Amino acid sequence: MSKVFVITGPSGVGKGTLIRELCKRIPDLELSISATTRQPREGEADGVDYHFLSAGEFDRRVEEKDFLEFATYSGNRYGTLRSEVERRLDAGHSVLLEIEVQGAQQVRQAKPDSIQIFIAPPDPAVLRERLAGRGTDSAEAIDRRLETAEIELASQGDFDYRVVNDDLADAVEELAGIVRTELGLVGD
Ligand code: 5GP
Repeated sequence: MSKVFVITGPSGVGKGTLIRELCKRIPDLELSISATTRQPREGEADGVDYHFLSAGEFDRRVEEKDFLEFATYSGNRYGTLRSEVERRLDAGHSVLLEIEVQGAQQVRQAKPDSIQIFIAPPDPAVLRERLAGRGTDSAEAIDRRLETAEIELASQGDFDYRVVNDDLADAVEELAGIVRTELGLVGD
């Protein structure tokens, strides 16, 4: 059966890498491409990493009720287009949403049978190191992301599962185990 998985976690926790590895292991799981008003980072492509929309276009899609969920994060808007999710489910695939906590809450309401996973850092201090090491955000943007991270970490208890990303290989194994169990693929 096709299912919707939501993965949330503070910026810098390593969600992107974990998700890439997870999708390699479970090919039936397809990542939904979100829409955002933030500027593309170097190397990001429209329609691949995000659908990069102007603020006006984002508003229009909100008006049209095109979003399953949307939220403002660090001064930019992000949202999951219903079409991204529905066309994958209709084709018999499971869908993975990589979104922040407010969006996860909206998906919980819209799709109560979605499976919600929180990725936590072994220690909150590693978030600053990883964000600074990534070199894609200004010092001010990093501070904003870390403030948001505190709020996000406080909501961990609302999730069905919590995976600590200490050792990458272990965290990928644990995540893949959760997804396989939920999809009834255990033993394959
Ligand atoms: P970034 O700017 O680093 O790509 O993403 C910033 C935050 O926005 C991350 O926590 C990411 O999970 C979240 N995000 C990405 N896409 C969506 C979305 O479609 N909806 C929501 N609510 N959050 C999103």
